[in-house]
Amino acid sequence: MPKSASCRKLPACISSALTSALVAAALVSPNTAVAQVDDQTRKLARDIFQQLIEINTTDSVGSVSAASKALQQRFLDAGFSPSDLYLGGPNDRKQNLVVRYHGTGKEKPILFICHLDVVEARRSDWTTDPFKFIEKDGYYYGRGTQDMKDNDAIMATTLIRLRQEGYKPDRDLIVAFTADEEGGKSNGVDWLVKNHRDLIDAAYVINPDGGGVDLENGKPISMDVDATEKLYGDYQLTVTNPGGHSSLPVPDNAIYHLADALVRLQHYQFPFELNAVTRAYFKRLSTLETSERATAFKAILAPKPDPAAIARLSENPEWNSMMHTTCVATRLQAGDANNALPQLAQANVNCRILPGHSLEEIRQQLIQIFDESKVTVRYVNDAGEVFDVAPDRKQLPPPPLNSELMSAIEQLTAKMWPGAPVIPTMSTGASDSVYTNAAGIPSYGVSGIAIETNDVRAHGRDERLPIVSYYRGLDFYYQLVKMLSGGA
Ligand SMILES: [Zn+2]
Repeated sequence: MPKSASCRKLPACISSALTSALVAAALVSPNTAVAQVDDQTRKLARDIFQQLIEINTTDSVGSVSAASKALQQRFLDAGFSPSDLYLGGPNDRKQNLVVRYHGTGKEKPILFICHLDVVEARRSDWTTDPFKFIEKDGYYYGRGTQDMKDNDAIMATTLIRLRQEGYKPDRDLIVAFTADEEGGKSNGVDWLVKNHRDLIDAAYVINPDGGGVDLENGKPISMDVDATEKLYGDYQLTVTNPGGHSSLPVPDNAIYHLADALVRLQHYQFPFELNAVTRAYFKRLSTLETSERATAFKAILAPKPDPAAIARLSENPEWNSMMHTTCVATRLQAGDANNALPQLAQANVNCRILPGHSLEEIRQQLIQIFDESKVTVRYVNDAGEVFDVAPDRKQLPPPPLNSELMSAIEQLTAKMWPGAPVIPTMSTGASDSVYTNAAGIPSYGVSGIAIETNDVRAHGRDERLPIVSYYRGLDFYYQLVKMLSGGA
């Protein structure tokens, strides 16, 4: 969803803010290791990437089904059984593809979720055609090169490569290629959870749409693992009034009531709260920092967190957002004429809600904070529809970090990006993990794609990916999948 800015490396993601804290602390080494990818695999990976980029999968005019069917054919050509390739969805344009790679069944399956849709891209905004795969100056250009056809192609290539090698995992590997993560009304993960839970049931979910390696001037600064997410919520504040002539003002004024409510919000701080992921995040930072900040991190992790330390760290917007639900005024409109008392005053308040709290719970809390009986507070959904009451939807509090997964990522990161710390993060946006988490399958954003923190182009113009990052990301996933399925 464009509004909730789900995807990796967007400014809305907490992870990108880490770099300032880590750049001095991380003991970085030159990024010299060479990707272990043979020529045949390299060619296959490139071909699939090109094919996916050149299939337009935008919600407006594109077709996710075309991309799903292209991948289905790739798997058939590679010898996958038709019965292990499920193609389905709510309508002709939004077909999802679920691929099952059979293992021995010793362990419960792992599910990988990969959205095939991309955000809109106008030819006139771009230097090149966004739906042409272009190789230039060490980069691949095209809509989806960062978000996330790179990892779609990597997952498809990895399964085909493993099959060609005759690899037998100790668990089923399931990959769901899906529709409408970025927008649209047919979210594929949601649809699969509701209609084909049996096809995608797993011990845990890996979502390559989150996490990844942050680079600064070519140096790996951190390997981020998105282990939980905040929930996105919009609320509409409305005050109505009979109005009147501005030469005869009265105290009962729509604009003043609304302004009073917003000022109360301005001075309100939602309660301090940590979960398994943010606790691990701050613990990690406390070992990387040596200054008084390390003391502050330790002070908020204590059984009785120190309010002074919380206040000090909250001055940093990213850390503030990690510790609190945040709600902020983002739009305002009121009045009809310069010489008339306002009949209507409205504002939008945008919230990023910590796991464990529902949209309706926050609406009720806002009403209390505003303490203004004239202000009505309604919920606004992603389509802009307004409701008197908000849904009870919430992000479930994250379970403890999955040690098998974290340890595999630690080992691979030490090998491929030596010196870069592995940091569990909480994304401030929402990805498709919201559906699998809600279905009780713990979900983690994991990616081997390395991008310069100042070259984030997901959703933007001239989206591009360093060619070297693509093949290293491919190598990363190949090794990760094997490590998690008894093969290494
Ligand atoms: Zn994405």
